[in-house]
Amino acid sequence: MAKTKQIKNISPGDDNHRRLIILGSGPAGLSAALYAARAELQPLLLTGMELHGQAGVTNLIENYPGFPEGIGGSQLGELFVKQAEKFGTKILYETAESVDISSRPFKVTTYDKTYTTDSLIITTGAGANRLNVPGERELTGKGVSYCATCDGWFFKDRPVAVIGGGDSALEEALFVTRYASSVTIIHRRDAFRAGTLLQQRVRENPRIKLLMNHIVTAIQGDDAVKSLLVKDVNSGKEKELAVEGVFIFIGHVPNTTLFKGQLSLDEQGYVQINEMMETMIPGVFAAGEVADRHYRQVVTSAGMGAAAAIQATRYLENNRY
Ligand code: NAP
Repeated sequence: MAKTKQIKNISPGDDNHRRLIILGSGPAGLSAALYAARAELQPLLLTGMELHGQAGVTNLIENYPGFPEGIGGSQLGELFVKQAEKFGTKILYETAESVDISSRPFKVTTYDKTYTTDSLIITTGAGANRLNVPGERELTGKGVSYCATCDGWFFKDRPVAVIGGGDSALEEALFVTRYASSVTIIHRRDAFRAGTLLQQRVRENPRIKLLMNHIVTAIQGDDAVKSLLVKDVNSGKEKELAVEGVFIFIGHVPNTTLFKGQLSLDEQGYVQINEMMETMIPGVFAAGEVADRHYRQVVTSAGMGAAAAIQATRYLENNRY
């Protein structure tokens, strides 16, 4: 069950009404909360299931300014929370189960309560894509994982595979080498999408093997992963690869199910916003990965969150409720 922190003395008279609700606790949501709190909006932030968003499961973030030695994702998330709370953000460790933005005030419903709000910032982020091959669903949690930081430890001295060729795959493959006896990166093309520095580190790591131009066609095992079936995309030949863990990092899908039919989404499901983080509905803003398929960095998401809060503040000033 979701952890709940009690909200005390939010707004005299109506504890369930807010000027601003923020959905999501990644860098975008927590930065929005910081800015909105400093504008004295006393925002309510619902964290969602993934505390600190995807950043929270990133082992080491080396490209967020101000931390020359890098910082752990959850450590950075905790600092964001502390700073947002310091200025008056109320954080609820809960998930929005439904959102109604068809009339004002907007409504956000959790498992036991409906909140109303004059404005809303959506920072619900994105979730991991699935390979959609036989065995993946059945063996998730039994060797199939989408989070090396969370599950890498389970594969101490065992062979694992990492699927994907982007920054996430290479970064997480490097992380898993702390535990696994060997890490095979399986990528469907002959060139990685990841940045050159990560590529260099991967190629120099003696525990990492590369299987380029291959796709996974099945994940095999009864109660635990035993092997993968992989296919050479050029020759069409299939072979079996013995591994006990599979980490899948093949991109993301935006978490926008709650807004289908209520907001304009692009063909991949991302919330469509203008340069001021405004959605098609006045008073509803979106920031971070739920609305960004280009940059997806902690720093860009944080910047979008701050911009959304500035716009929400202006909106509330110009539309008195
Ligand atoms: P991504 O850049 O979209 O890469 C996804 C990878 O998965 C690609 O290599 C893609 O192959 C492969 N892929 C996609 N669908 C597949 C399928 N069905 N089967 C096999 N392979 C498949 O995703 P990401 O690595 O999660 O990164 C997302 C964003 O976050 C990027 O903008 C990235 O720069 C950023 N990021 C940055 C850092 C960092 O700066 N340290 C760390 C993590 C993520 P193709 O290459 O053939 O398309």
